[in-house]
Amino acid sequence: MSIEKKRVMSMSEQTARRWIAERGVKVDDIAELVLYLQKPYHPDLKLEEAAEHVEAVLRKREVQNAILTGIQLDMLAEKNELAEPLQSIIKTDEGLYGLDETIATAIINVYGTIGLTSYGYIDKQKPGILQFLNDKSTGQVHTFLDDIVGALAAAAASRLAHRAAHTE
Ligand SMILES: [Mg+2]
Repeated sequence: MSIEKKRVMSMSEQTARRWIAERGVKVDDIAELVLYLQKPYHPDLKLEEAAEHVEAVLRKREVQNAILTGIQLDMLAEKNELAEPLQSIIKTDEGLYGLDETIATAIINVYGTIGLTSYGYIDKQKPGILQFLNDKSTGQVHTFLDDIVGALAAAAASRLAHRAAHTE
């Protein structure tokens, strides 16, 4: 615990965390998605424990890089600052673009391929914060962030499942 408090956050981690928050997503929102995914297997799972796994995922450099890249593109598209055709593709969240899912995969892969199923599942169900991020009426662009958030939850759920398998 004391080591954790003294930890110095890299600029990548600070920025990734700040951008997620500024775009309207809290760590607890992602932890709620972890609960949603893990409820069938860990019915007593608490939000704080789920949030700890989300925090651990956010400490990974590969994860921070994916967050920074995806959110940057969302922000530029929102301000109409990308060149065409990318501007229209990202702003309208064109279905066949697919690179938003590719960036999400980079996050999931940090904890092995089991997260892919969870990611696919919540991407279809769109519970909680994912519903908010998919609301196209807000004028905000979350083409990348919705997949990033789903991937963060899936990765945290994978981490939790791996830990549980090693302690039980
Ligand atoms: Mg998307």
